[in-house]
Amino acid sequence: MPDIKPERVLSDLRTLATFGAYKTGVHRPTLSEQDIAAREWFVGRMREAGLDAAIDGIANILGRSPTAGRKALAGSHLESQNHAGWLDGPLGCVYALEAARAIAEDAATSHLGVDVAVFCDEEGHFGSFLGSRSFIGLLEESEIYAACNHATGKSMRDALKAAGWSGRRRHAIDPARYAAFFEAHIEQGDTLESTGLKIGVVTAIVAIWQYKLTAEGEQNHAGTTSMARRRDAGLELVRLLGAIDARFPDDGTYRARPG
Ligand SMILES: [Zn+2]
Repeated sequence: MPDIKPERVLSDLRTLATFGAYKTGVHRPTLSEQDIAAREWFVGRMREAGLDAAIDGIANILGRSPTAGRKALAGSHLESQNHAGWLDGPLGCVYALEAARAIAEDAATSHLGVDVAVFCDEEGHFGSFLGSRSFIGLLEESEIYAACNHATGKSMRDALKAAGWSGRRRHAIDPARYAAFFEAHIEQGDTLESTGLKIGVVTAIVAIWQYKLTAEGEQNHAGTTSMARRRDAGLELVRLLGAIDARFPDDGTYRARPG
């Protein structure tokens, strides 16, 4: 069994939390000064672990294991949402790194390999999953050129240039290289915590669909319009929400409580 070293994991996580430390968490938007520094530090940790690691032209990091044969790919993201927690993203990056280290250090498993990936802008400061889409070949250069930071208006191209990474060849997945992909992630709901479980395996994920609904009513005198004649837009929307809530348990696997 590879020997996972918890103190090494925690130390790496605590070091990452110093880049853009904010209250009890971090503020580390994509390609901010703190994010760039975190990426530079993490690529160094990957190299210390014996991975062939590089930051690419969209600030993705891939650390390649030197072993032969098919590998596991594991990783997450390093940038944070605005004023966020310190584990969303870094946990998955450091767990992947620790898996790579521990497996390499154990003679019984050192022939196996873990590649570590850090995908840029999963938190969407510039676009929609730019890093992971780049890695799987679904991102044109033109989209990087057009992407601007939603808060500052700064272009991604300029931000990459300032970091010294623009124009670099982008990492691309080699499907034949991998047997599996793993991402460890801090729980974002309360299922594990409220049931006292330490770890869970994701079996399904919510896809968010957003709709814009317009309800049109009819304005009239509140005292003299009979109830039968009223057309209250607000009331109709409330009824619609009630109907959606009543119908959801029948239409999906939604459950109010695990069990
Ligand atoms: Zn995350």
